[in-house]
Amino acid sequence: MIENNVKNLLKNLTLTNPFGERVTLVAAVKLQSPDDINAAIAAGITDIGDNHVQEFRDKFDEIRGEPKRHFIGRLQTNKVKYLVEKVDLYHSVDRLNLAQVLSEKSEKAEVISNVLLQINIGNEESKGGFSLDEIDAAYAIIRALPAIKVTGLMAMLPDTDDKKLLSSLAEKMRQKYDYFRERDENFTHLSMGMSGDYELCISAGSNMIRLGTAIFGNRNYK
Ligand SMILES: *Cc1c(COP(=O)(O)O)cnc(C)c1O
Repeated sequence: MIENNVKNLLKNLTLTNPFGERVTLVAAVKLQSPDDINAAIAAGITDIGDNHVQEFRDKFDEIRGEPKRHFIGRLQTNKVKYLVEKVDLYHSVDRLNLAQVLSEKSEKAEVISNVLLQINIGNEESKGGFSLDEIDAAYAIIRALPAIKVTGLMAMLPDTDDKKLLSSLAEKMRQKYDYFRERDENFTHLSMGMSGDYELCISAGSNMIRLGTAIFGNRNYK
């Protein structure tokens, strides 16, 4: 099943968005077994994204094929030390304090960490991220940190069937992304889109999607 899902996704994914950019598919691997993750990689997945530091560490040595590693979950500052040097892109930098700690730990390890700034585009209580009002000031501070490179934005859209609302929020994200991209050549990623809304997100200009269910089926939360 996983193999077919990956092959169909890679085949059907409009490999460019309306802006002519390639769309990167990141497999969201939370709660998946190393065997299933490795099956997805064998079928063509090149990028995998974790939510939980403990799971990331537990499975680290069992992952085959050297995929690019993304961290997509909410990150506590006291766990940053377990990820530095191992993660290629942090999607979920949602507060200044986290960026500061990540920069400190990266500096000590003599690496530069690539990050996306998370925007809470639906202004939802349950989600992390900067508001559109805060993002310019946050960007200015985080960009100035010595061991951080800001390479784009990330968002999770609200869980709703209102396609019009979702499209308008996704388009707002693309506008903000373009605003930064015109001023900062490091901006290359707009990470937006999950199994339920990725087509709409690509149409609005996302160039990086994070899919779990569409690859692995429904998660078993037991
Ligand atoms: C779980 C998760 C996804 C994938 O969700 P699906 O709906 O299963 O595709 C994407 N992004 C983040 C941040 C996640 O936690």
